[in-house]
Amino acid sequence: MESSLVKEGPLLLPLNRERSVYGGFLTVQERDFRVRILLPPDRQLKQAKLHCCWQLKHLLRGYEHVVKQRLQHSADLVGFILELKTVLEVALKGSPKNLSIPPPQYYSQLISEMEELGWDKLVSIDAEFRTLRLKAGDSSGRQHVLTVKLKAKHPEEAPGCSADLPVPLDIAWTPQSTLPQLHSRFLLLLESLAEFWEVLDEIDAKTWVLEPEKPGRADTMRRIAIGNNVSIKVEVDPRHPKMLPESWLLGADHAVTPLRNKLNGNMHSWNPDSSVLHNLQDVLEIEFPSPATHEKSSFSAECGICYSYRLEAAIPEQVCNDPRCGQPFHQACLYEWLRALPSSRQSFNIVFGECPYCSKVTLCIMMMMMMKANS
Ligand code: ZN
Ligand code: ZN
Repeated sequence: MESSLVKEGPLLLPLNRERSVYGGFLTVQERDFRVRILLPPDRQLKQAKLHCCWQLKHLLRGYEHVVKQRLQHSADLVGFILELKTVLEVALKGSPKNLSIPPPQYYSQLISEMEELGWDKLVSIDAEFRTLRLKAGDSSGRQHVLTVKLKAKHPEEAPGCSADLPVPLDIAWTPQSTLPQLHSRFLLLLESLAEFWEVLDEIDAKTWVLEPEKPGRADTMRRIAIGNNVSIKVEVDPRHPKMLPESWLLGADHAVTPLRNKLNGNMHSWNPDSSVLHNLQDVLEIEFPSPATHEKSSFSAECGICYSYRLEAAIPEQVCNDPRCGQPFHQACLYEWLRALPSSRQSFNIVFGECPYCSKVTLCIMMMMMMKANS
């Protein structure tokens, strides 16, 4: 028996004189697993005990009954070892994820890094200890979260960091990166964006922001209410937050044209040392309505076709140009309305038709805009 055992499992050898304990390594798919088999005094395989290393134990989870059965039915130790190898082949094939179970040092390293960083920084950790969420406060007291996906656990997933930022998270991750290092690099990046968030926090606090509904730290756009169905959409550059932002005035022509003229005429007086909100008010020669002066409901007029304010993410953007009407519509609703109207006409990518409210003014809508709104 021993000679054939050496042939089948050359790394499995008797460990004592009585030949009741065998130990060594099993090689399956180029991986070595430490095993130990304890035979009872009568050396009957039926009563044998199998001791496995923790990796093997993990792999054989769910296959215990098969192993037990093979142990009872194998004629001898060699036969059992061959059976065990077959079970392992199947287990390895069935759960490729198990290949990436980290060694125990991974966890002790993780704990010592967290101790260095401070446990108070930990927001959450997943059940497998693969993904950590760490909190970081910038110098202005804003709270941020850095998500760290740790060292190559799932083979199909790359390790790395992510966060709610308006710029790519520029933290180079290497297998040597420690949590305190990643965290301090994140803090530096947060400081470089402090001015950007200052600009947007002021807008969020002192004006009525119509879009996005709940701005996140990564959002660079704000649609600010100016008056009933008149608003300005600004896109703040995270790297140059105090420069004149890209802006679009939205609303009926009669309301928007004078504002557009002021914007174009006063652009040169934009002062990069002042905040975007102050500059916008100076350039447009207006005061934005604020939560202190107005109710939000005065700027959130419903669409005249579907009678709702929000249609999926869209808010009514198209406004009737007749100053006495001024009814707002969702672009999607107006497009459907005009398309169904026999009197409406289409020229190139523009659809023309009468306002469903006042019938006086011809509304037009660009198909290109519609395609964007529908996508
Ligand atoms: Zn609508
Ligand atoms: Zn109208």
